[in-house]
Amino acid sequence: MRLILLGAPGAGKGTQAEVIREKLSIPAVSTGNILREAQKNGTELGLKAKSYMESGALVPDEVVIGILKERIAQEDCQNGFILDGFPRTVPQAQALEEMGVEIDRVVDLEVPDETILERMGGRRVCESCGASYHLLYNPPKSPDVCDKDGGRLVIRKDDAPETVRQRLQVYHEQTEPLKAFYESRGKLRIVEGQEEVADTTRLVLQALED
Ligand code: AMP
Ligand code: ZN
Repeated sequence: MRLILLGAPGAGKGTQAEVIREKLSIPAVSTGNILREAQKNGTELGLKAKSYMESGALVPDEVVIGILKERIAQEDCQNGFILDGFPRTVPQAQALEEMGVEIDRVVDLEVPDETILERMGGRRVCESCGASYHLLYNPPKSPDVCDKDGGRLVIRKDDAPETVRQRLQVYHEQTEPLKAFYESRGKLRIVEGQEEVADTTRLVLQALED
């Protein structure tokens, strides 16, 4: 199963990707996590991406396409993967096709902007493994400690309200056209994000089956 999760920032892609990853035993690939990791390690890639990410803009296509290509060439991706946060532009989707990657399904998680702005305040991410939590919807056992590895949970810089607004605008302008792109290929399924993570998961799994 090669799956793409589409949706606005804060729609719950990361959370759903984690759940599906466990259910289907295929890796979840998040370009956002790879970029944050690169920043944390102070690599050249991290430096290059930093200013874009902090302002809520997209990192240039050629940079993320290169990252993605390298990642899905790895052994663990050979039986499938879940893409979370890639593609985000039509040229990125075209690049995926040009690489010869056959996508089985594209699930678009729909959540209204207003709900996203409300939700973002509770978002936390693990400093060491990148796992995402929400204090209300997907709470860690302890408010600032990662359940998986005990890492510290922090608020992402790009989750600040002004940045979130900027990211939503970028989403509508640059990423939303991907719905038509995949609709025209018969791959798109739309899932309305539910209040409960488990309810959304059920709908996502249904969308993979039909
Ligand atoms: P995310 O964790 O998916 O919300 O990504 C965080 C930030 O990383 C985004 O706001 C972008 O600046 C950058 N980013 C992640 N994935 C991509 C992508 N496919 N194309 C361009 N920028 C990306
Ligand atoms: Zn962790």
